[in-house]
Amino acid sequence: MSRREFTKQTKRDALRRSGLLCEAIGAMYGLPAGHRCNAPLSVGVQYDHVVLDANSKDNSLENCAAVCVKCHRWKTSNHDTPMAAKTVRMQDKARGIRTAPVTKMKGPGFPKSPKASRRQAKAPLPPRQLFKPIEETRS
Ligand SMILES: [Zn+2]
Repeated sequence: MSRREFTKQTKRDALRRSGLLCEAIGAMYGLPAGHRCNAPLSVGVQYDHVVLDANSKDNSLENCAAVCVKCHRWKTSNHDTPMAAKTVRMQDKARGIRTAPVTKMKGPGFPKSPKASRRQAKAPLPPRQLFKPIEETRS
């Protein structure tokens, strides 16, 4: 199973499409909305799943962004990991997987801090560890 990997051809195509400039765009990568990073990829390129692969299982070129190390690191530590946990919870909910019975159907929005037991209805997939995460966020 190599669900987390793009094919070599997809990576080649993404790199060609990028023009050797980082394709990261917008807040997902810690950039201003609509702003593309455009950092030169000659110093290092990584291939990012635009839509997190654990959720979409999409390894197509359209879901592959050739990004610089800085952008990839930022997105992985600030976006992908929290999103993965959230998506697992939402998938569980959509599929009727619950650890506790739903006692009330109405109410204003979600609770601020869901109980830990709800989070663990299904263990999230481990984050991709291409590098050691840095301690501080970039903002
Ligand atoms: Zn970048």
